Amino acid sequence: MNLEELCEVASTCVKCPLHESRTKVVFGEGSKNAKIMLVGEAPGKKEDETGRPFIGMAGRILSEIIEEAGMDRSDIYITSIVKCRPENNRKPKKLEYTTCIDLYLNKQIELIDPDIVGLLGNSAAYALIGKKNIKQIHGNTYKLNGRKYMALFHPAAALYSRVLLPQLKKDMVILKKAIEK
Ligand code: SF4
Repeated sequence: MNLEELCEVASTCVKCPLHESRTKVVFGEGSKNAKIMLVGEAPGKKEDETGRPFIGMAGRILSEIIEEAGMDRSDIYITSIVKCRPENNRKPKKLEYTTCIDLYLNKQIELIDPDIVGLLGNSAAYALIGKKNIKQIHGNTYKLNGRKYMALFHPAAALYSRVLLPQLKKDMVILKKAIEK
């Protein structure tokens, strides 16, 4: 199955309870040949309405830091650990993210085969590499099953705490350097 076919399957998915609270499935977008994939927690309100990832306020911050690091957002593939918005923006539950990762994210990573996967925030870092405490692990790279991962703050965290923004920018530069090696 290719990426488009997988997206088609996801668009009508009812495999976990999150299908009940969604408007649109937010599968992901960006280059199919991306060297960097970014994985967030879950779609928010705007994403749920449009079916596109990271297009709200946090998305604007993400686009800004990607550009400041000298990259083009369209060269990166951006998605989340769950493709449907949890009600009231609560955190996805274990059953929800393990189901969605197993059905979609793992296959997206396999098909795109990026050099590195950037994990945005605690939920993505814990779900993909089992690491907690983003304040301690951000900027670090990890290798798991032959795949390279790096943890970064979630752009929404930089919205609420502007002191995190410079750190997020630095980490995005580190992420870019990781694909230049
Ligand atoms: S979150 Fe993922 S597994 Fe759950 S319904 Fe949506 S697409 Fe399916």
